[in-house]
Amino acid sequence: MLNQSTISDLATKLAKRETSSREVTQSCLDQIARVDGQIHAFISHDDVDALAQADAADKRLAAGERGPLLGVPIAIKDVLAVKDQPLNCCSKILGKFTSPYDATVIEKLKAAGAVVFGRLNMDEFAMGSSTENSAFGTTRNPWALDRIPGGSSGGSAAAVAADQCIASLGSDTGGSIRQPAALCGCVGLKPTYGRVSRYGLVAFASSLDQIGPFTKDVRDSAILLETLSGHDKRDSSSVPQPVPNYAAALDGNVKGLKLGLPKEYMIGGLDSEVKAAVDAAVKQLEKLGAEIVEISLPHTDYAVATYYIIATAEASANLARFDGIRYGARVDGADPIELYGNTRGQGFGPEVKRRIILGTYVLSSGYYDAYYLRAQKVRTLIRQDFLKAFEKVDAIVTPTTPTAAFKIGEKSDDPLQMYLSDIFTISCNLAGIPGLSLPCGFTKSPKLPIGLQLLGKPFGEEMLLKIAHAYEQSTPFHKEKAPL
Ligand code: GLN
Repeated sequence: MLNQSTISDLATKLAKRETSSREVTQSCLDQIARVDGQIHAFISHDDVDALAQADAADKRLAAGERGPLLGVPIAIKDVLAVKDQPLNCCSKILGKFTSPYDATVIEKLKAAGAVVFGRLNMDEFAMGSSTENSAFGTTRNPWALDRIPGGSSGGSAAAVAADQCIASLGSDTGGSIRQPAALCGCVGLKPTYGRVSRYGLVAFASSLDQIGPFTKDVRDSAILLETLSGHDKRDSSSVPQPVPNYAAALDGNVKGLKLGLPKEYMIGGLDSEVKAAVDAAVKQLEKLGAEIVEISLPHTDYAVATYYIIATAEASANLARFDGIRYGARVDGADPIELYGNTRGQGFGPEVKRRIILGTYVLSSGYYDAYYLRAQKVRTLIRQDFLKAFEKVDAIVTPTTPTAAFKIGEKSDDPLQMYLSDIFTISCNLAGIPGLSLPCGFTKSPKLPIGLQLLGKPFGEEMLLKIAHAYEQSTPFHKEKAPL
């Protein structure tokens, strides 16, 4: 089935004109019609527009143009601006807002001829780890419909795992690409902070947010990253560093590379099947010729607390703009203050309110030094832990998550338990380094995907992709399909 193809499969088939973008796009839309009633990865999709984009790509192909993404359907998390499409961040507060412009990554995809379609479900304003905080209902894990797909980019991961699109985009502030990729059995990459422009990404925590790809294999991740990356004068935090040909790094050779295993990551709450799968993956990498070295990241214990201070502080500032005056929904009041209160009171869900309250508190005078300033200092120590480790190793290997996908409702009443499920992914954002998750096995019963996380040096995406690719090519896990 065409919708099960990878980007690299399609590039060959489309180039030889063995299929058309219209056929590929239609097969994704058919799959959505068949399975999305159960999964709910999409909150909306405009089929007429998607097919029109496919026809435009087919014209370019017919005229002899070629390119790795030309004619490939890619679905988008509801946090990225796509001109003339709805943009809700899965919140009620944006009402019927449609985006007046394209995010830089969307411009790049469109220029490459991708079919940019659909709005994918997510936790409201990307705050969450399960997609249960969406104002549009929960997404279900394609491997087990009573389980969460992870979050916040749960729709992006589920749509790729269920072959409803060829690849998708998500955003990662504390794990929101890698964690759902792990729980749904796909490849998710959070680039180095500054690698990809954030222009047109609705900000959650601006010093942590990055956009990245969800794909069916590592090669596709490399292909998509190359298109997304690069300096953008509209995002001053994007770095003017040349963009490598990432796919060229996939040479299958990890001989002599040093991989660090952080001793602090073997925590008590780590599920035994997850641990066994990660141990086996480490052995496999060793068999492929890598050298395994124990390392220490001594400030790991403080990562979750540090993250939830910095992320909420930045969120409280970023979300101040949703006031009922400038964007989206408005709930009137007798005066402007009451209008703000009514709009924000009714527009934001409970988790977003919790974050705004926490963030406002840690920034308030009297508490700023004790919380926010101290968290910034700890953040520096966490980054230094990594930079020190990378003097000895080429990459770091960890589990992506402490457990496989949990049941819908299991943690939704316990925010702290939910926050702790991000324990392995959060440090990477605080340090600004790249991280990738790829499938490394399954639990037995029910059969649920397990993810392996690779962390790299700043701008070391090539190394991560190279190691991930060598591992993937020597294991069967990425080929398995969710039972739909
Ligand atoms: N789960 C984390 C949070 O709730 C990370 C979210 C994200 O990366 N957007 O903040």
